[in-house]
Amino acid sequence: MPVFKTEAIVLRRRDYSNSSQIITFYTRDYGKIHTLAKGFKRHVSRKCSSKAVDLLAYYQILFIKREHTYLHTLTEAILQSNYPLLRNNLDKYYKASYIAELVNEFTQENDPSEQLFDVFSNTLTGISIDEDATIRMLVFEIKLLKILGYLPEWRRCVNCKNSIQHLSEVLFSAKEGGVLCRRCQSRFKNGLIVSTGAMLIADRLADIQKLERVRIQLPICVEIEKALRYYITSILNKELISWKYLNTVAQ
Ligand SMILES: [Zn+2]
Repeated sequence: MPVFKTEAIVLRRRDYSNSSQIITFYTRDYGKIHTLAKGFKRHVSRKCSSKAVDLLAYYQILFIKREHTYLHTLTEAILQSNYPLLRNNLDKYYKASYIAELVNEFTQENDPSEQLFDVFSNTLTGISIDEDATIRMLVFEIKLLKILGYLPEWRRCVNCKNSIQHLSEVLFSAKEGGVLCRRCQSRFKNGLIVSTGAMLIADRLADIQKLERVRIQLPICVEIEKALRYYITSILNKELISWKYLNTVAQ
């Protein structure tokens, strides 16, 4: 049976029996995959110190690909990084858990995106080392939407196509996939009133490369996050579990 090798980040882990688990990875070459880790044989090396496959850790894995089933067989997982700084700080850990939940919810099995994999692993590194990882998290949400083709129109009214720059507020409609100017709003009732400034900053974050010097005022961060939650809830048709924990930390 063919054995495949790839880099992978652990998204989910759940017990299958006393001695085995189902582990969901986001991989560089195969996208999201589910694997059965049966009596899991660990790689004996100093690099691999934990007894089980850790959540939110980066591995090089070997797995046997099964045709006709969604569940492949994990044969080896060699730890590359478990982002130790994430594990000593609850706020960072919840933010990292949230981005993993986003990847899990937004991706399909066997639909790889190297770009998303790289943004995901770089964001985990960024969250673990940054003093305040809020902007990292926002940028990840926006980049994920862009890579997977869900980025809303934030610069122009989706109906009349006019620029929104001169307006102070716009209506953000998830259903219409972007913002609506004052003149067009009356025809589209559902949405969220947001400041134009926040939307234009969110739009710029989609293409940002270096985050080190980016500073965004807290009220703008809060407004962008609120708009993203509204939009993500609408796309997935549900609320994400991690939001409960992120709120707890914010309070
Ligand atoms: Zn308009």
